[in-house]
Amino acid sequence: MPGVYISYPFCSQKCSFCNFASGVSGPDTIARYRCALLAEIRAHEWAWQPETLYFGGGTPSLMTGELLREMMAAVPCEGLTEVTLECAPGTVTPEAIALWKECGINRVSLGVQSFVTKELRQTGRRHDAQIVEREIEMLRHSGLSNINIDLIAGLPEQTLASMDESLGWIESLSAPHVSLYIFEIDEDSRLGNEILLGGQRYGAPRVPNDELTAQLYEKASQALRGFGYHHYEISNYAHAGFESKHNLKYWLLEPYVGFGLDAHSFDGHVRYSNGDTFEAYFQSAKPPQTTSDSAEEHFFVGLRLLDGIEPTPLEWQRFAEPIAKWESAGMLERAGTRLRLTPPAVLVSNEIFQEFLNV
Ligand code: SF4
Repeated sequence: MPGVYISYPFCSQKCSFCNFASGVSGPDTIARYRCALLAEIRAHEWAWQPETLYFGGGTPSLMTGELLREMMAAVPCEGLTEVTLECAPGTVTPEAIALWKECGINRVSLGVQSFVTKELRQTGRRHDAQIVEREIEMLRHSGLSNINIDLIAGLPEQTLASMDESLGWIESLSAPHVSLYIFEIDEDSRLGNEILLGGQRYGAPRVPNDELTAQLYEKASQALRGFGYHHYEISNYAHAGFESKHNLKYWLLEPYVGFGLDAHSFDGHVRYSNGDTFEAYFQSAKPPQTTSDSAEEHFFVGLRLLDGIEPTPLEWQRFAEPIAKWESAGMLERAGTRLRLTPPAVLVSNEIFQEFLNV
């Protein structure tokens, strides 16, 4: 059953590490976006009933009740089993929770990133560990206990000791799902750009080097597994039964439709993506399409799952060379008819995946 993604790209601040199409906008842009988004959803011809709905962004927990209700009225909701809302800590209130529950939201993803105040302030975040603790308690008390916590390895000021502090909170809060990312240095985030330019802003000189970032990631990954989380995707860990049904659709190459700024869609054969600037999104009557090479995608996307993939006979043949190369390097392994990443490969997965393109 397919999924639906809706982007709400507005935030109360632009975090220094963020490379998403999101940020702070004025009321005119927000109002215009609201109209365009609702029009896009209402114009969609639904050929199927969605199973999952994911509000991402941005900070969709800042959406008004009116907009949330209008969107839920525009999406066929009868078959939904998982409805996720991304939340910035500090936006969870009893009133907001009541609204989210009324609208059918049953999973909350908290963009915590770190539990260490010094690290959070450096990135522009305003919450602290106590706020996260209070909000998780509030969510659980109201019955919204399917919670994800996002964590990042590689933030400015981060040390092995400060990662320990964050992991201590993860253990005691015991949310059923954790996403662990590595900060990517690219020109799409202010911090990444500053590092590439050799500048001093946003704590750029205090970003851990590659070696320490790898240690931070390893430490966190090992601790999460020790706390009883199942590492099921490169960046995702869950208690049994709490894997993200929506995100699994991306990795299993199941269809989904995306609405809003920079939203992507996949109908099983063709990929579409909306504009990633407001100008492009407001103007594009029809998003650009790209046909996908299903064998490449099977490897490029499917190998993100730690269970790996079951290549077809033709795929074994076509990708024999890169498979042999990474097997002998100890980065890929066979398990029966399946092919999967080995634990050390997780840190260099992008390099591995690249070799399955244009073969
Ligand atoms: S990290 Fe989240 S809250 Fe921060 S700017 Fe990006 S989307 Fe907004």
